Amino acid sequence: MGLQPKNVLITGANRGLGLELVKQFLRLPSPPKTLLATCRSPENAKDLNDLASKHSNVKVLKLDVTQPTAFENFPKLVESFIEGEGLNLLINNAGINIRHGLEEADSESMMETYTTNVIGPLRMVQALLPYIKQAAKSSTDTSLNCNRAAIVNMSSILGSMAENQSGGLYPYRTSKAALNMLTKNMNVDLKSEGILCFCMHPGWVQTDMGGPNAAVVKETSIAGILDVMSKMNGETSDIFIDYNGQSVPW
Ligand code: NDP
Repeated sequence: MGLQPKNVLITGANRGLGLELVKQFLRLPSPPKTLLATCRSPENAKDLNDLASKHSNVKVLKLDVTQPTAFENFPKLVESFIEGEGLNLLINNAGINIRHGLEEADSESMMETYTTNVIGPLRMVQALLPYIKQAAKSSTDTSLNCNRAAIVNMSSILGSMAENQSGGLYPYRTSKAALNMLTKNMNVDLKSEGILCFCMHPGWVQTDMGGPNAAVVKETSIAGILDVMSKMNGETSDIFIDYNGQSVPW
């Protein structure tokens, strides 16, 4: 059937992988009816605003995932755009990487990274769960997939215990390991509600975070991620997947 979720929300959509997600969702044969693209500073999000000016289904919403107060009115704002249909796909993409090793890691860098990379996705799900459940319930489809109702968390292979051969990056690695457990927990808790949860490793990608020497370009990474999203279902227990569709060990 292909990837065709009706209502989609992407965090950190102003640059990097988030912006590329928006671009490639718009190029799908059946693009989302509503594509909610959130970012911290819409006033500075030139590329995203340019896309929104050309595509009326793109709505740019202000959201800093670390600010508890930001979530007070946010669910109602989302509801006003999806008009009783529910939210089919939430992509928790926003993230930071403070590159602190063992000597530098301190409570500030650990907390800031955890707040953004772990508590941010948790708050997003808590705030929007009623709408994701609504999407799952109102679907005639009874299987688990990204068209019906799904939560996708942007993780990293750097959060994998099994793949850690080089150490370092204490705030980032620990936050992504925690995000992996968050994802697994949600996968267990929400399966019976008809909601699919999994996390992705996008590859080492040329973005501000990945740097210019990264192995993969954004276009390739996101094309692979959309392909994985089109194929994921509730039949596999492998829910940490890379952009090539390969399972990543926890
Ligand atoms: P970038 O640094 O290029 O972009 C990060 C995005 O997250 C920006 O839009 C940024 O917004 C947003 N963001 C950061 N903090 C917050 C916040 N508090 N509230 C809302 N938005 C926020 O990173 P990438 O695009 O490369 O990474 C996207 C995701 O992919 C991240 O979760 C990252 O960990 C993951 N990833 C990336 C890899 C890579 O090689 N690039 C590898 C593995 C995983 P702003 O512009 O306002 O700062």
